[in-house]
Amino acid sequence: MLTLQNLIHVTQEFTEKYVAPFTERTDTEARFPTESYEALKAQGYMGLLVPKEYGGLGGGNLHHSQVCYALARSCATTALCYMMHNTATAALSSFGSDGLKSELLPKIAKGEITLALAYSESGSGTHFGLPDIQEKEQDNKRILSGRKSFVTAAQHADYYVTYTNSCKIKDGKNTWLVHKDSSNLVHESTQWQGIGMRGNASMPVQYNDVKVDGKYQIGNEGEGENHAGIVAMYFVVGLGAVYSGLGFHAYATALKHIKERRYTTGGTLSDVELVRIHLADIYAKTQSSIALVFDAAQSFDSQSAESAAKIFACRINATHNVMDICSLAMRLGGGKAYNKELPLERLLRDAFASQVMAPSLDVLKVWLGQELVK
Ligand SMILES: Cc1cc2nc3c(=O)[nH]c(=O)nc-3n(C[C@H](O)[C@H](O)[C@H](O)COP(=O)(O)OP(=O)(O)OC[C@H]3O[C@@H](n4cnc5c(N)ncnc54)[C@H](O)[C@@H]3O)c2cc1C
Repeated sequence: MLTLQNLIHVTQEFTEKYVAPFTERTDTEARFPTESYEALKAQGYMGLLVPKEYGGLGGGNLHHSQVCYALARSCATTALCYMMHNTATAALSSFGSDGLKSELLPKIAKGEITLALAYSESGSGTHFGLPDIQEKEQDNKRILSGRKSFVTAAQHADYYVTYTNSCKIKDGKNTWLVHKDSSNLVHESTQWQGIGMRGNASMPVQYNDVKVDGKYQIGNEGEGENHAGIVAMYFVVGLGAVYSGLGFHAYATALKHIKERRYTTGGTLSDVELVRIHLADIYAKTQSSIALVFDAAQSFDSQSAESAAKIFACRINATHNVMDICSLAMRLGGGKAYNKELPLERLLRDAFASQVMAPSLDVLKVWLGQELVK
């Protein structure tokens, strides 16, 4: 049984059995990693951030980053979908009403329902805190109209945490849980042509006057911006963990390759000093990525005043590192990597999402600079 104490060990075994066998197919067929996602549900992972009183494991940001990292060492797409679920769960656990938490958190802990994030819109792009989506009030319900531009795991997750403009408080924002099968919710399911993260099923979702019951509002009216601030801390650290795990995957692939690549002279690539120096660079970058991620997550859990700066920094570091790691690993992989005999080109494609996912690399640097001079 999964516990916080055996989390790292059990998750390593879990990824070998339930994630690694599907990784290649997820990419080549641009297919959602259903088997891995179902196994995550069945084996208690969806309840990682659900408080114990609701049947979950009561984990924190460090546990979240540990599992995202471990999954991404095998499949970055699976890790990304899981990361979105955990982040959305953190929003519900932190700000949901007692009634909403009692209704949904036990089901999440049992793996009966999962969540996704619907923040981004094309009108604000990477500045996901500035949605255009509008609300109208009708009886005790809200009618939502607008379009979210990317929802990872759409149609696979049950509820989308949806960020809107309050119709009651000027400039206020709200957060809602919207069921995937709601009337007038339209999935643009043919839209995902990502060069990487090919199985994440991200797609635009139209809210064409979608009616949501008042009880599915997360938190108080107009306070969504505060919620988004906390949600971002799980999201940014989670992305840092995903791209650190992906970097490790590239390191392990390059290491195996240079030891196995043999010439007729009898030597292997790993006999070449410059090759070993490149490997040393790759390894140092993988270690720096994950060390900063775990430190940042821990500082959030211990409510350190420096945690926001550390969280922004860990993802900036992981993003730069993963692109460098994959590029250098491709060089070590030579023609075999270029010809897709090694999975390195997939990892390179997946890695490029890191710099554009909100808050993008450049926006994060702006945020970190602001945080440091505050
Ligand atoms: C694989 C993947 C999965 C995703 N999943 C989700 C999801 O589940 N939920 C969700 O809500 N969103 C999701 N997104 C959306 C994502 O978070 C971003 O909102 C989206 O990638 C922004 O794209 P854009 O073309 O609108 O970027 P733009 O806003 O057009 O930005 C383009 C470039 O300009 C730069 N830029 C823009 N403004 C500034 C500025 N002020 N300062 C410096 N640089 C700036 C950006 O850094 C970026 O590099 C996903 C995206 C990807 C790639």
